[in-house]
Amino acid sequence: MKPATLAPPISYYDYIIIGGGTAGCSMAATLSEGAHVLVLERGGAPYGNKVVEEMSKFGANLDDESPISSAQPFVSEDGVVSARARVLGGGSALNAGFYTRAGTDYVAKAVAFKPPMLEFQSAFKNGLVEVGVRPYNGFTYDHISGTKIGGTIFDHNGKRHTAADLLEYANPNTTVVYLFATVHKILFRRKGKGATSFFIFFTIIYSFY
Ligand SMILES: Cc1cc2nc3c(=O)[nH]c(=O)nc-3n(C[C@H](O)[C@H](O)[C@H](O)COP(=O)(O)OP(=O)(O)OC[C@H]3O[C@@H](n4cnc5c(N)ncnc54)[C@H](O)[C@@H]3O)c2cc1C
Repeated sequence: MKPATLAPPISYYDYIIIGGGTAGCSMAATLSEGAHVLVLERGGAPYGNKVVEEMSKFGANLDDESPISSAQPFVSEDGVVSARARVLGGGSALNAGFYTRAGTDYVAKAVAFKPPMLEFQSAFKNGLVEVGVRPYNGFTYDHISGTKIGGTIFDHNGKRHTAADLLEYANPNTTVVYLFATVHKILFRRKGKGATSFFIFFTIIYSFY
């Protein structure tokens, strides 16, 4: 991954993913197995950013309203104050880290962990069981009815593992990730008139900051 200022004026890819978020990073890793992939992410990298990486800074991460923070504040059309991701890894770099529903192979190699049961978590779990949210399923990544202890993307040291970590599994020879690249427009151009000569060009215009 590198800043978009290092991008050549023109380059060609089989797939261009706009937004290196939770879906974008995993999609890039998968597509890169058989195609050339470019990821354009408007934010920076999550690595080495304590506010993103440390579980204890969860609130501070969401509260940081500076112009290049990982969480961009916004107010929804119906007036709800919220935050959206502006960082490689997307929402997984600022969310609560609750992890559920995934295949065993994926979980084993990537970003999910069994959480420690601290006071709050135990009290919450016991409360749910007590009011009848049953059965109690213990720890499981499966998305099932009842009460369970789900996975988390925070490891045993309280360090967050975002979707950006999934890029480790991308083919380095076929994947390029540009940071600080905000996509403004996609231009479609038709070449020729007949159905057989129909062609579409995509142009990505991005800015640096
Ligand atoms: C506070 C909070 C807590 C949450 N807790 C949980 C939880 O515990 N468990 C859970 O599963 N989910 C949780 N979620 C939801 C989850 O994080 C999101 O649903 C998920 O990350 C969305 O993934 P996405 O790939 O659709 O979008 P995102 O992960 O948001 O990715 C979008 C990416 O696109 C980039 N981008 C946007 N516009 C442009 C542009 N024009 N040019 C270039 N890049 C661009 C953004 O910077 C971002 O990186 C939470 C969300 C929030 C806000």
